[in-house]
Amino acid sequence: MTKNSHFPHLFQPLDLGFVQLKNRVIMGSMHTGLEESDNGFEKMAVFYAERAKHEVGLIVTGGVAPNREGWLTPFGIKLTNRREVKHHQLITKAVHDEDGKICLQILHAGRYAYHPFNVAPSSIKAPISKFKPRALNNYGIRRTIKSFVNCAKLAKEGGYDGVEVMGSEGYLINQFIAPRTNKRSDEWGGSFENRVKFPLEIVNGIRKECGDEFIIIFRLSMLDLVEEGSTWEEVVLLAKALEKAGVNLINTGIGWHEARVPTIATSVPRGAYTWISERLKKEISVPIITTNRINMPQVAEDILSSGQADMISMARPFLADPEILSKSSQGRANEINTCIACNQACLDHIFKQKTATCLVNPRACRETEFSEEKHPTSKSVLVIGAGPAGLSCAIEAAKNGHRVTLVEASDAIGGQFKLAQEIPGKEEFRETLRYFNTMLLKYNVNVQLSTRATLELIKAGKYDEIVLSTGVKGRKTGIQGEELPIAVAYERLLSGQVKPGTKVGIIGAGGIGFDVATYLSATPKEHDVNGFLQSWGVDVDYKQRGALNPSPEMQSSEREVYMFQRKEGKLGSRLGKTTGWIHRSYLKLKKVNMISGVQYESIAENGLHYSINGKSEFLELDQIVICAGQKSVIELVSELESNSIDHRIIGGAKFAGELDAQRAIREGIELAYSF
Ligand code: NAP
Ligand code: SF4
Repeated sequence: MTKNSHFPHLFQPLDLGFVQLKNRVIMGSMHTGLEESDNGFEKMAVFYAERAKHEVGLIVTGGVAPNREGWLTPFGIKLTNRREVKHHQLITKAVHDEDGKICLQILHAGRYAYHPFNVAPSSIKAPISKFKPRALNNYGIRRTIKSFVNCAKLAKEGGYDGVEVMGSEGYLINQFIAPRTNKRSDEWGGSFENRVKFPLEIVNGIRKECGDEFIIIFRLSMLDLVEEGSTWEEVVLLAKALEKAGVNLINTGIGWHEARVPTIATSVPRGAYTWISERLKKEISVPIITTNRINMPQVAEDILSSGQADMISMARPFLADPEILSKSSQGRANEINTCIACNQACLDHIFKQKTATCLVNPRACRETEFSEEKHPTSKSVLVIGAGPAGLSCAIEAAKNGHRVTLVEASDAIGGQFKLAQEIPGKEEFRETLRYFNTMLLKYNVNVQLSTRATLELIKAGKYDEIVLSTGVKGRKTGIQGEELPIAVAYERLLSGQVKPGTKVGIIGAGGIGFDVATYLSATPKEHDVNGFLQSWGVDVDYKQRGALNPSPEMQSSEREVYMFQRKEGKLGSRLGKTTGWIHRSYLKLKKVNMISGVQYESIAENGLHYSINGKSEFLELDQIVICAGQKSVIELVSELESNSIDHRIIGGAKFAGELDAQRAIREGIELAYSF
């Protein structure tokens, strides 16, 4: 087979002996919530088939429980009997029809299960579940091993090419392996040999029952990142034992869900954890898959070409763009809609028991709701404002065959994304802007920058559809002294119009307040891989169990930063479920001062007067950044209304209260489909 000239290593087939994978990319396991939705299997069939059509080498499904105790949440997806097999056949047939291969991931949640029937090696409650698990007895352990093997047998009957055994991220198997959660003194605990008996019996059982021509992937926790996790010697010994037991691929698992180290968020540098896969690759001969924060083909190609791993696993990037691989192989990588690792529409949705989708691609997991066909009549569309809402609307409308003009008052597209990309750790937003720019060109959108939409311009164009996506501007606080030079709106700081001060107060502690505090506190060091790992306390020399240093070594900030909010209680409590803790921990490590329950009295030339519980305070500062939320920019609306000109409003211009890019992009696309 000829090598792809753009990414020669990425598109090289991988021979597993009895089966050949067409390239080096696995679509990694990801729970989407479709599993539990109405007609979920039909929807999953379409979801996975679309990814298979676009060249992915091997797909791994979201985690499927091998028994009820292993459910992540009550009534979650499981595969325990023949009746369930026929539903799975919908998925496997759809994927095979697209010439794809698919493995079922078997995931037993153990003590992470969010229901009262959860079990574990020992009865130790997880910090992330309110249910204390019951310790399995010997009979229960044997029965659980049988459930894993039975699940794999049923998966084979259902047409899956293999299974991935989930042995990492702190789930049941990992709980048996690590002394942190395995305090047993019988044959399943104590010594290393006893602790790894559970996974090895599972793998041996699956190989025996499912035969030699059935793919077994083991997701091995290479870095637990928790106290009392595995040692490096134990990881290697287990990998060797798994190899002997006949696994075909070893996938990299990084960090338990309760770990205090970020592993997949946007602030994690790209490919930050591939070094550990590389280290294991030197010890064994079974192919190694590496993972975590690999979101663009060039990153994957570089990892493969330097020999760090044999395969790459990406999960969220396939939500952001199902065509990531076909675009790469066809030399169209600049058209990739890149996953920005925000978690806002995927993992955060799952934690709220909602179906996942993607902030930058609202079609994800809703494939059956959007047709790819062009609109029968081409309309003339004017979109006013090139923030996320306007951009997505303009591009989708043009893609659907409409003639689109996009006007923007400033000299560049992006709106709030232009500011977001300036936050250290949020550089991925640049990729979204690159994607938008490429698409505007590709679909011939008539972009007019530095152009303010006026009534004359609108009337002159005789447009069929007029869309107002004029976005938001920072809200004024009304605090006395807000007009003094010491007080600056966050937009002016992040856009570089104003230089940061040295002792800075931030009024307002929502998402933007946290972003501004990060902007003021970050040091360049923590954003390269080594600096990041050191800052968060990852023990790269693996001297400690779990590869976790006793404390992080975050470099202190060169500024003194104070955050204020009027509400009582912890700052940042409304930030995203899966990322809020990172923002809070980061600023705490940076020694940012967080003050809640304040009443603002006035802004002075040299600081802030405020009171707490009626007691007046004064804090000397040289800058006060206002991050007090936004208000919609809607000056044009009344003009349009008084001239009876039909128009639609989307994004922040429609509602600034819960300004959020996910809603803005989704509204833009949905509106474009309605034309
Ligand atoms: P926000 O979340 O509404 O926060 C505004 C803050 O300003 C609040 O903490 C509020 O707290 C304070 N405030 C409101 N009115 C005020 C006034 N008149 N005077 C003084 N303080 C006032 O708005 P945001 O921070 O601009 O964020 C907007 C949206 O952007 C968020 O909803 C989020 O979706 C998104 N975002 C998220 C992230 C992230 O998750 N990392 C980052 C950036 C943006 P008190 O009233 O208690 O003082
Ligand atoms: Fe990636 Fe964010 Fe989309 Fe999730 S929501 S797939 S993290 S871009």
